[in-house]
This record gives sequence, structure tokens and C-alpha cells, in this order.
Amino acid sequence: MPESEDDCAGLYLTVLCWIGLGLATLDAFLQPLPWGLTWAMLAMSYLAGGIPAARSALAELWHEHRLDIDLLMVVAALAAASVGAALEGAVLLALFSLSQTLEHRAMGKARRAVEALMQLRPEFALREGPDGVTEVPVADLVPGDRVILRPGARVPVDGRVADGSGHLDESTVTGESAPVRKVAGDPVHEATVNLDGILTVEVTRGLETSTVAQMIKLVTEAQAMKSPSERFSDWFGQRYTIAVLAGAVLSWFGFRYLGHTQGEALYRSATLLVAASPCAVVISVPAAILSALSAAARGGVLFKGGGALEGLAEVRTFAFDKTGTLTTGLAAVTNVVVLYGEEDGFLALVAGLEAQSEHPIAAAIRREAAERGITPAPMRDVRAHPSEGITGQDAEGPIWAGNARMLAAMGANLPDALVSLADGSETLIVVGRGSRILGAVTVADEPRTTAAEAVRDLKAGGRVSILMMTGDRAPVAARIGATLGLAPEEIHSGLLPADKVQLVDKAAKRGKVAFIGDGVNDAAALARADVGVAMGVAGSEVALQAADVALMAEDLRKLAAAQRLARRAARVIRQNLTIALGAMVVLVTGSLFFELPLPIAVLGHEGGTLLVVLNGLRLLADPIRQHQTV
Ligand code: ADP
Ligand code: MG
Repeated sequence: MPESEDDCAGLYLTVLCWIGLGLATLDAFLQPLPWGLTWAMLAMSYLAGGIPAARSALAELWHEHRLDIDLLMVVAALAAASVGAALEGAVLLALFSLSQTLEHRAMGKARRAVEALMQLRPEFALREGPDGVTEVPVADLVPGDRVILRPGARVPVDGRVADGSGHLDESTVTGESAPVRKVAGDPVHEATVNLDGILTVEVTRGLETSTVAQMIKLVTEAQAMKSPSERFSDWFGQRYTIAVLAGAVLSWFGFRYLGHTQGEALYRSATLLVAASPCAVVISVPAAILSALSAAARGGVLFKGGGALEGLAEVRTFAFDKTGTLTTGLAAVTNVVVLYGEEDGFLALVAGLEAQSEHPIAAAIRREAAERGITPAPMRDVRAHPSEGITGQDAEGPIWAGNARMLAAMGANLPDALVSLADGSETLIVVGRGSRILGAVTVADEPRTTAAEAVRDLKAGGRVSILMMTGDRAPVAARIGATLGLAPEEIHSGLLPADKVQLVDKAAKRGKVAFIGDGVNDAAALARADVGVAMGVAGSEVALQAADVALMAEDLRKLAAAQRLARRAARVIRQNLTIALGAMVVLVTGSLFFELPLPIAVLGHEGGTLLVVLNGLRLLADPIRQHQTV
């Protein structure tokens, strides 16, 4: 990794710079060194400390046409040297070099938190082939291969359990520490750990498209994406650097005018240059944001950039989709009522219609059919109608399944035999051909165990309101809402995807809105909300792409924890900017009006920079993963 090599070189140069400074200081106070050696030491200190800074400043100037704060440091040190304060200049360079190295190390640590996942990838896997089990490099695995997982082994790829059962520790991907039981058919993710059991896993995705690869890509992109406050500090740093350089030159004339000697004026201008340099301001925001992003990623919450983090801190309304978000999405068929023909044939038709749908209702119907050993009927021209239902064609002609909206669109009326079902608090799916009703299925979905607590946590965080939005009928919405402790005015039912968008817009008048959904039928609302949150996305490419924040595990409590983290990050950013700007004002005032000595300016300036970096790094320790109970 070139970055870490750079880090090392930086460290050696810093050490050299300090050795030079130390020996030169010895001389200044104890005089045990011959003169020439002192100068050599000072020169070494200047070169080791100044060259990296000068190099990066010149590169920035050449390629980006931007003035860098590194340049200010080099100019200040040279100015100091030219007025006989060479030792002070060396102190400046040594401290600057040290703070740069520490900063790089610290920030690199934040950046690398997710790349650490890479190292959790095993290199070899046990592939089951026609001639027995062989060890192959993981990169050679292709979808369809079967690999054997022994207890204690890391999962080498994304796949699906084909045989066996056991518990997996998925904390590397979801941040969830409790082991998860896996049986045939369940997905498994790369880099998780097989705790017990012997599993045969069918590979579903190659290495480049795996969950971990996507997490790494997202987090790396997120860190490159600048948040509003980061853009501010960049902008500020750039303007300010020019202003400081100009100011220092002007101040020289000023000090001369006030009667100082050339040397004195230069010394004081150099002090001003150091005092006014905005290192701390520039680093204060990214230090906080990068730390928070990495802490969140370790807890299984991916933010797509600092903007999403700052956005979440300010969210006033959390709008939840119901099906698959507040509820488990693992709905079960509770009733099958057939008006014509027998039940198995009817279910075969419905399962055929729902064969390709991603909707949790469709999954429930497919599971029911599978349990009864029913093969789904073949269908053509299947089309999903978001928040209404689904239509298709079989040998007999067009067929549909859906809710009251779909029923109305088909010009059908609910037959008496189904009216009692329609009054219940379970989701009703009516099936028909044209205006003729064939029968109906009811599906019940339970709230997630974490949902009620998540709603409470969010409200406890203060200043937020909660909304539930669903395309389902009012009685179902009311039943689920009641178990979550939601008031009737917080529940909105019978919505089309466009209605959800409208409600998000309406809520946006009162402040930032987060929409939390599973990506099925609510991509538009996810996109429209200030902060789109997708959940349970370990493995789901679409949801990862659509949202600003992704909860890897299906644990809604992480949302409240993530907002707490985001708010803390916002506070740290404010503290940092206050510290950085405050220190600058004090030092500049001191150097203009109180003859502040250069070494003090240097100490104050570098001390402030270190302080904001360390303050930002505190966020690395924020334990999203500790907010959960096991
Ligand atoms: P939610 O907003 O709660 O996530 P949706 O908007 O996804 O719910 O769906 C609303 C309603 O539309 C469902 O309750 C169901 O009646 C109907 N529906 C949606 N998709 C399907 C489908 N694939 N098959 C049958 N009915 C569906
Ligand atoms: Mg939904």
C-alpha cells in the first residue's frame, strides 16, 4: 500500500528532523558540539522537516493551482532562519512534521477500518468438485461452485447454504455480535465466521461483487465525498492561505513603519504567519467525520459520505415504511379462500404470478406453496404494480392479484364471501381474472422485535417525530402501529409510492426527513428524503445503491444509535471549529499587539491542530455495536 509506505517515510523524516533539532538545541544551551556540526544538525532538521512540506505544497500549487498551508510553514521557517532565529524555525518544522505524521497515522487508521475487512478474507477455500474436495484460491471461485465450511473457518465468498446448519458470527459485516443460525437456503456473507456446524455453501457471487467488496467501495467513496462543512473548511483554507501570505507581507511593512528593524519586522511577520495559519481549521472537520464514518461502519452502519452523517444529525422526522421495515417482511399466509376450483391449483396460480416479485407478500405466498409441495404455474408478461399488486398471463388469459385498488382498477367487486376477511387486520390479497374473483389469500406480518425499542430510542433522543407509511390497509396499519406505540396521527395507510413522496415533502417543511425502507416500492421516497435509510442490506446491491445510509443488519435500533453518533459528530465539529478559530484569534492578536515570541506561536498553533485531531478521533470509540443488547 503506497499510503502506508508514505506514512513510514514521513515518520523517519520526522525523527530525523527532531534529532537535528535536539542536537542543535544541546549546542545552543550547553555548547558541547563544534560549530560546524550544529549548523549541519540545523540544516538536517530543516531538510527533513521542510522538504516533504515543500514538496507537497509545490505539487499542490503545480497540479491544482492551489496554495497549501504547508507552504506557509516552509515560508515561516525560512523567514525565521533569515533573521537569525534558525532554531525557532527548526522547532516549527519539527512540530509541524510531527503533527503531520500523527495526523496521517490517525486519519489512516480511520480510513483503514473497513479495509481491515479485506484482511479477513481467507485466501483459500475448500471446493467440492467431481473428484472430491480440493483447496483452491478464493479468486478462482465462480457462482455455482460449492464450498465446504469447517467450524471456525471464515466464509470465503457470498453464497447460500446448500447443506448443513450451524451458527455464524456475522459481526464483521452487520456489526451484530449475536450468532445467527443458518440453515439450507439462508444467505451467508464473505468474511463472517462459521462458529459450529459443517456447511456446504453454494457460491452466489464472485469476489469483486461480494458484500464486503461493496462495503469497501462505498466507504472509500464516502470518505472521498465532501460534506458541506468539509467543503467549507476547504474553501476557507484556500482563501485564507492567500490572505495570510498577503497579510504577513503587509505586516512586515507595517512593523517597519512602526520603527522596527528589518530583522525584527521579519521575525514578527514570521510569527504572525505561524499564528494565523489555518492548519487546525482545515483538519478539524475531516478528523471528526472520518472517525465517525469508520466507527459507524464497524457497527454495521454505512454512511454514504459526511453529508449523510451531518444530515442524519439534523433529521426531525423519521418516516418508516411498514412492510419489511417495521415488520419482519417474513410474512406468513394465514388464510386461503377459493371461490372456484380447488385450493392447490389456485395457489399454484398465485405463486406463479408472484414467482419473480421481490415483495415480502410474494415471498410469503411462494413459501406457502413450497411447503405444500405445489409447483408455481408458468406465467408470461408478469408486471408489478407498486402498492397495488401484480398482473400476468397464463394459458387461460390475463390474471391478477392485489389489494382494493387493484380490485377497483379491474372493475371487480368484493364478493360477500370475502367481506369478512377484508374487515380483519391482516393483509388481504384478492386474485381474479378481469372482473371475476377467483379467491383470496390473507397474509400476516409481525413487527420486528427491535422496532418498538427503536421507535422509543429515537423519540428519547428528542426533537424528532415518527411517521409510519404503508400501502397496506388501515386496519393492518393500525394493528402494527399500536404494538409499536404509535399514535393514530402518526400512521398513514393506503398509500401509493407517489403518496409516500408527497408525505415526505410535507414533513420536509418541518425540518430534515429520513425515510427508512427496504427498497421495495419505496425507492422514490428513499431518494426524495433528505436522508434515505435502507436496512438489512447485507447482500442486497439495489438497496445499498439507493440509500444514503445503509443498516447492514436488520436491527432498527442501530438507527437511533447512528443518530446519536451523528449528533455527537456534529458537536465535535462545532467544538473543533471553535477551538481552531479561537486559538487563531488569540495567537494572531498576540503576534500583532503583544510581541508574541515565535516559539509560543508555534506551540499554540501545532497544539491546537493536535487537539482538534485528537478530539475528532474520540468518535472512533463511539460504540454503535454496544448499543445493542445481545
Ligand atoms: P408497504 O408500504 O407497507 O411497504 P407496499 O406499498 O409495498 O406496502 O404494498 C402495499 C399493498 O399493495 C400491499 O399490502 C398489497 O396489498 C399490495 N401489493 C403490493 N405488491 C404486491 C404483490 N406483489 N402481490 C400482491 N399484492 C401486492
Ligand atoms: Mg415496503
